[in-house]
Amino acid sequence: MQEIILVKYGEMALKGMNKKTFEDVLIKNIKRRIKSLGKTTITRAQSTIYIIPSEEGFDVSEAIERLKKVFGIAALCRAAVCEKDFSDIAAVSCEYLEEILSYAKTFKVNAKRADKSFPMKSPEICRELGGILLEKFSHLTVDVNQPEITVTVEIRDEKAFVHAENLKGAGGLPVGTSGHALLLLSGGIDSPVAGYMMAKRGVHISAIHYVSPPYTSDRARLKVEQLCEKITSYCGSIAFFCVPFTKIQEAIKNNCPEEFFTIIMRRLMMKIAQKICEKEKCLALITGESVGQVASQTINALVCTDAVCEIPVFRPLIGMDKVEIVDIARKIDTFETSIQPYEDCCTVFTPRHPKVRPLLADVEAAEAGFDFTPLLEEAVNETELKIFNLEV
Ligand code: ATP
Ligand code: MG
Repeated sequence: MQEIILVKYGEMALKGMNKKTFEDVLIKNIKRRIKSLGKTTITRAQSTIYIIPSEEGFDVSEAIERLKKVFGIAALCRAAVCEKDFSDIAAVSCEYLEEILSYAKTFKVNAKRADKSFPMKSPEICRELGGILLEKFSHLTVDVNQPEITVTVEIRDEKAFVHAENLKGAGGLPVGTSGHALLLLSGGIDSPVAGYMMAKRGVHISAIHYVSPPYTSDRARLKVEQLCEKITSYCGSIAFFCVPFTKIQEAIKNNCPEEFFTIIMRRLMMKIAQKICEKEKCLALITGESVGQVASQTINALVCTDAVCEIPVFRPLIGMDKVEIVDIARKIDTFETSIQPYEDCCTVFTPRHPKVRPLLADVEAAEAGFDFTPLLEEAVNETELKIFNLEV
């Protein structure tokens, strides 16, 4: 029995004039995700994308697992292919749906007749197939209002399809339909989640990471690269920029008052990130900050950080508790990597008593004694780029 995959998109179907562009990007993302599993034909009709394997041995279960991580997909289902002949539809339904119907108590049949020349009308298909299934699975009853299982028969141009199970998709919008932004990615729990959340809204992500060798180790950098690789299954390919930050941190330490170390460091990170944005045509920054989480994330501190930002800074975790963030980190499988204990440049030269409510004027005064411009330029010039593609 041949199986195909049906992909339903949700919010995207509302996009009116832009619908075709959204569909094109989604189909491109789907193709990229399942290409390595074998050849397929992909068609679309009525807010559904049909993925039809054209090779023996195509692993439908694996394809479904991968597609569950593709944003823009509201629901997925696997369907059996039938000849456009009612007796074949009935026979395939009895065999293909045997397991799912044997566990259910109630069901109904729903028919969609895209090919109007099919000799039976939709109500007749529902009635006849319902009767056959009731006879074969005698424990079932029909419930047209709230059935446990809806058996759907689709009569299309070439073939008919039967399916009964809707699997939840990742939701959101296809990555690449909402522009390009740069994620400040640390080795912590929060920033990979922030990247995931913006990718869910269709944003194409690049990542920037600051390292301070020898204070931070190669292992710490490797951990961040692993995180980057992990989120590609949701975000698609990611350009990863690694910035040498040691000289800048040493300059802060040697030239600025200790209580402002962290906030000045964050402002300089933002300045470098914006220079990379300019080169890469990223329109916004993304961070994993959440109000009040640490001293540099009080509203006063965020005001001081934002004062050097000329482009929007997206903070999708801003109102979330750590436990909520951890739940998502577990779901996207970054949590275990994030909690590996390697140092981050943020923990180098941390002040003993950071200013919790810094005033912008004081921060600017604290920075004024040293010209960071040449060091920032040097750091940008020495930034290394690595591309992370989907692991398949
Ligand atoms: P996370 O849990 O993501 O590591 P955090 O709780 O450690 O964040 P901070 O150290 O204040 O909090 O960092 C706040 C945000 O700044 C991070 O979410 C991330 O976006 C960015 N950031 C921190 N350190 C780095 C780094 N070394 N490279 C790139 N971005 C960083
Ligand atoms: Mg954090």
